[in-house]
Amino acid sequence: LNSTVHQTKIEFEEAICIICDKNNTHPAGEVVWRGNTLQYCVCGNCGLKFMNPRPTRDWYRNFYINEFWEDKFANRSWRGKGMFELLWRLLKGGVSGRLSKGRKRALQVVPEILSRKSLTSASKVLDVGCAFGMILEEIKAKTNATVYGVEPNDSARAEAEKRVGVEFIGRTAEDLVAITGMDGTFDIIIFSNVLENIVDPRPVLQAARRLLNNDGLLYVDTPNVFYYDAMNPYHPYVYSPTSLSNLLSACDFEILESVFEPPTDRENEGLPFNCKRPRFVTAYSRKSTRVNRIVHKFDSETYRKSALLSLQRYARIKSRN
Ligand SMILES: [Zn+2]
Repeated sequence: LNSTVHQTKIEFEEAICIICDKNNTHPAGEVVWRGNTLQYCVCGNCGLKFMNPRPTRDWYRNFYINEFWEDKFANRSWRGKGMFELLWRLLKGGVSGRLSKGRKRALQVVPEILSRKSLTSASKVLDVGCAFGMILEEIKAKTNATVYGVEPNDSARAEAEKRVGVEFIGRTAEDLVAITGMDGTFDIIIFSNVLENIVDPRPVLQAARRLLNNDGLLYVDTPNVFYYDAMNPYHPYVYSPTSLSNLLSACDFEILESVFEPPTDRENEGLPFNCKRPRFVTAYSRKSTRVNRIVHKFDSETYRKSALLSLQRYARIKSRN
């Protein structure tokens, strides 16, 4: 088994709540990664769960360009080593394992999106964090729309360009902020399994709003803290239906529909892994026709749960390093 070549040690920065611009937080668990303890907290004002301190945006950018997919392809879990990881590599490992996982997900997500927004060959679709272009491949096959992507990793980009003809307009989600001359371009913008990875999602979502046309659909799915509390080194945020709604509202989106699974008994027992059912909260939004006031809906469930969480044994998970 290869050992990973890791970049320089993690650079950290302090975070405050992106919804309230406040620093009034309570501890809500931690994970250990590469010898660093990454702590989570919940905002006492709105209930948003986030990592603080967190690796800087520049650090993450290099990580996504150079290491993220390499770790995934090798099935090097951040969680640890041992028999479980060895078995996992044998069963699900390598590029083909990852691609088939991506394809399976695309086959779930794309019919859901297309049932809410019909596309023609004149349509334009953007997938932010498109990886190997699996979702775009499926959309293109069904509608012949023109497909655009944002993706940091070179091998993922090359694969998506070659197989699907994805045109890239950025490396990381933050690059959307600087794009000019494409306002009102897209019929659908997708953030699938991506928003939780973005260090500063507000300017990114505001840029997405600008790039979306007036009838455009914003699709977001992200791990649901109530279903699967996805604390891990890649996730500066773990959203709930309420905190996702607060964020979209703060970025002048209007949620048309939000889909999520209620908490399960299994989750209440503190068993976050190996869930069989979908783990995501999904929101379909459009541009709000007026500029929203930010509505702070206090997320009392996340707040309550996080207080319990810090006492639970899975809050600290040893990394293989
Ligand atoms: Zn807050």
